[in-house]
Amino acid sequence: AAEDPSLHRLLDRRARSMGPTYRLFYDEPLHVVTGRGVWLEDAAGRRYLDAYNNVPVVGHCHPRVVDALSRQAATLNTHTRYANELPVLLAERLLATLPSEFGNVVFTCSGSESNEFACRIAMGVTGATGFIVTAHAYHGTTARLAGMSPSGGRPLGRDVFTVDAPAPDEPPEALADRVRDCIGRMAQAGVRPAGLMVDSVMATDGVVVGPAGCLRLAADAIRAAGGLSIADEVQSGFGRCGAMWGFSRHGVVPDIVTMGKPMGNGHPIGALAARREIMAAFAATRGYFNTFGGNTVSCAVGLAVLDVIQDEDLVGHARNAGARFHRRLQGLEARHRHVAVRGAGLFFGVEVGGGDDAAGSRARRVVNAMRRAGVLIGATGPKGSVLKIRPPLPVAEEELDTIVSALDAALHDA
Ligand code: PMP
Repeated sequence: AAEDPSLHRLLDRRARSMGPTYRLFYDEPLHVVTGRGVWLEDAAGRRYLDAYNNVPVVGHCHPRVVDALSRQAATLNTHTRYANELPVLLAERLLATLPSEFGNVVFTCSGSESNEFACRIAMGVTGATGFIVTAHAYHGTTARLAGMSPSGGRPLGRDVFTVDAPAPDEPPEALADRVRDCIGRMAQAGVRPAGLMVDSVMATDGVVVGPAGCLRLAADAIRAAGGLSIADEVQSGFGRCGAMWGFSRHGVVPDIVTMGKPMGNGHPIGALAARREIMAAFAATRGYFNTFGGNTVSCAVGLAVLDVIQDEDLVGHARNAGARFHRRLQGLEARHRHVAVRGAGLFFGVEVGGGDDAAGSRARRVVNAMRRAGVLIGATGPKGSVLKIRPPLPVAEEELDTIVSALDAALHDA
């Protein structure tokens, strides 16, 4: 920041006007001005390989998405109190990607709104108030969801209980055993479970993809106690994990699926899909209206994102290029001490350090070194010791190689 006086002034104005709740990435913050595909460009014209952002899932400023957005903005933008084909088409297209048990899609503007609505539905149809989340989960910004987001040390809300995410090499049953144990603790506290909400990649728990099947067994456990299984697909959805939805590698059919982030490639749109009978039970006594949720422009964007995912076979690419990238990342485990790689599709966590407190500092050094080398990644997990690598899906093989080489060099120096 020091050698860029315009950035210095901008940061100053930002701190004054936007205040202390905002955080910037990197020791040397990035002043970005344009994006294209997997590349971002800063104010000085330097290009950065974006290996971090899952929101622009089809690539920054994808021309088909930009075109759909601008055309629809010039044609009509209104809410769902009028009939229009675009939200119907988008609901139909989303349902076609989901198991046949899912009957309806309701539109929101963010992952948080989708999760908040999921909680209302779960409480409404079960008559219960308790929720189970993973021990370092993040589910959103509302007051209720902040209490269901213990990552970063947020205090738990009333009637919210946690289970540890699967540890490496745990069998698939371990998570379900903990859910049953948790339901027992809830009963002792006089709380009945309304639902189990799990991010299908458990990102803030440290990108814990878990053994295949663990989410199905956990869903069985919550249902046996009368609660609903809610798959938070806000990070894992839209092809990220090498399948359209992160839950599918677990062979589970959840009761509710929530979506956001990549759904609009950067445009604020989210959604909730529910099994037919669950939405019917909720809607028997209540409705839901969201002014901007399902607006015509957002739906045009959502449809363009689905078109690009399909036409560019980005799910297949996430699976195939992701598998090769996974092997190359695993090659680093032998070259560096205390490095462990895990992931699915094009979503990877690289644990650095032996899990002690110094590990978080080492991860920060790696993230900053890579930023200096022009490759953007992040860090997450309970101790901040898990490097988060999650490029837009159209990332090319050579670009994935660049990420591995930059990581190799950064781990060597850190
Ligand atoms: N769920 C998960 C798993 C998330 O990662 C996030 C955002 N980080 C949310 C929900 C909330 O989404 P939003 O910020 O769009 O409200």
